Amino acid sequence: MNNQLDSLRDELDQVNIQLLELINKRGQLVKELGDIKKAQGMKAYDPERERDMLNHIVEQHQGPFEYSTIEHLFKEIFKAAKELQEDDYHKTLLVSRDKQPTDTIVAVDDLHIGNGEQQFVMGPCSVESFEQVDQVAEVVKKQGVRILRGGAFKPRTSPYDFQGLGEEGLKILRDVGDRHGLKVVSEITHPNDIALGEKYLDIIQIGARNMQNFDLLKEAGKANVPIILKRGLAATINEFLNAAEYIVSQGNPNIILCERGIRTYETATRNTLDITAVPVLKRETHLPVMVDVTHSTGRRDLLLPAAKAALAIGADGIMAEVHPDPAVALSDSQQQMDIPTFEHFIQNLRQPSLLTHD
Ligand code: PEP
Ligand code: MN
Repeated sequence: MNNQLDSLRDELDQVNIQLLELINKRGQLVKELGDIKKAQGMKAYDPERERDMLNHIVEQHQGPFEYSTIEHLFKEIFKAAKELQEDDYHKTLLVSRDKQPTDTIVAVDDLHIGNGEQQFVMGPCSVESFEQVDQVAEVVKKQGVRILRGGAFKPRTSPYDFQGLGEEGLKILRDVGDRHGLKVVSEITHPNDIALGEKYLDIIQIGARNMQNFDLLKEAGKANVPIILKRGLAATINEFLNAAEYIVSQGNPNIILCERGIRTYETATRNTLDITAVPVLKRETHLPVMVDVTHSTGRRDLLLPAAKAALAIGADGIMAEVHPDPAVALSDSQQQMDIPTFEHFIQNLRQPSLLTHD
């Protein structure tokens, strides 16, 4: 009995090796075919040919497997061989660590993001007036923050809500930034407005709702300023990385990824901050990673602990919203910090124990 078992197992082992050899032999043939097709400018994938091959296989099939099982197995073998034909270049994303092992450091003049220093992007949700932005700029500058934010093109859920001041808002932000020696960042929502972003901004933001606006990403890829790319509301990390790839593949390597919370079933916070996205992104890519604690938590009481967690886990920077009088803000009045709260926030984050991480 045991002898029979052993001999069947031996036979099975031999069949496995034969299958292995045959699958690799098939792969080799497909590769050679692919090279010939490429040289002749023909497409690698030929669905008619694949259908013919499957029909031929199924005609010969005599069991014991189901027809559908055989079809499925062979389709997988076809797929694996087809992948061998694809250019390896496109399989490894430009944004991946495999492609570039060293960290990308995004530079705006003498300001660096991703070099181990922790940067803060602070400012109101929306640019509402010169005075409003100026007031915030003065206090953030005093606390050593170097990047000022403020939305001019606002992606609002309701079309009846404040939509932002548009180009006028960008001008205000630029003027205030220059007055205080701060770099400025604002969201651009339309591909045609990337040029406006280049004119007025040091960094262009692409917001969560536009993470897969591919025309916008392509245009951002041609811009000569860095891009803060925010993770989409329901985007996987793979989708996030591919969105960044759209920008890099058009020639703009200066991207800062920004985790800003994703939608889950949890309602205690506005979104669910995916804190482990930070080390995952740092491992998978060479790009700097920031965390937006305002839009992820949507709760003023969670801004400081969320920011501490983000820095402790390896974020290169923090984004948060500050308004001189949040109660009357034209957008996100629930979650923006007032000035004393901001001062407490930033002073707590600057404790030496939080400034280093491996
Ligand atoms: C913002 O930062 O102003 C904003 C709208 O954020 P998000 O795109 O992450 O919602
Ligand atoms: Mn906001």
